[in-house]
Amino acid sequence: MARYREAKCKLCRREGEKLFLKGDRCYSEKCPFAGKQAPVAPGQHGAARKKVSEYGLQLREKQKTKRIYGVQEGQFRKYYEMADRMKGVTGENMLSLLERRLDNVVYRMGIAASRTLARQLVSHAHLSVNGKTVTIPSYIVKAGDVIVVKENRKGNKYFTALKETKANNALVKWVEFDREKLEGKVLALPAREDIDSQIAEHMIVELYSK
Ligand code: SF4
Repeated sequence: MARYREAKCKLCRREGEKLFLKGDRCYSEKCPFAGKQAPVAPGQHGAARKKVSEYGLQLREKQKTKRIYGVQEGQFRKYYEMADRMKGVTGENMLSLLERRLDNVVYRMGIAASRTLARQLVSHAHLSVNGKTVTIPSYIVKAGDVIVVKENRKGNKYFTALKETKANNALVKWVEFDREKLEGKVLALPAREDIDSQIAEHMIVELYSK
């Protein structure tokens, strides 16, 4: 599948907010948003103020969400369709599905500093889910799933360095990760209040249901 490989900071500038796409750099002075003045959107007319239509706002919300989770249009639409068929609120179901992607869970567990790196760790077969190697970043996890660094990868430089950092710093309460053992667990499915992302999911639902 085609992936976006251009400068990630440009995507944040386009959305006018931090999307946290580059790991530690996003929390440092190197982030273009660290200065007093927010950076302008990319392109010749990036600084120009434009009146944005309702459709335009909905479209931007969708683009932003796709970029946060690193998902392409076709797959993103499938999440919407799946969410629409599920019981409950479509927007919240859609966010929950995005959060349950294996690459996102690996990021949320604190195994990787960004979703891009998490995706790489998954696709390079470093991890197993319930004892089976999974190399599909879009794999949807369930409550109770156990995600571990495979035995033959534990000596890898990346994971030995990870062990030396804090004992457990999963980013959200619905997952846990033990850095000593390099083992994690999905404790529960994420509810809307567990998802800190600055996303107005109802706007995406409005856009797709037109
Ligand atoms: Fe976005 Fe991170 Fe770049 Fe800042 S450093 S603009 S948050 S990708």
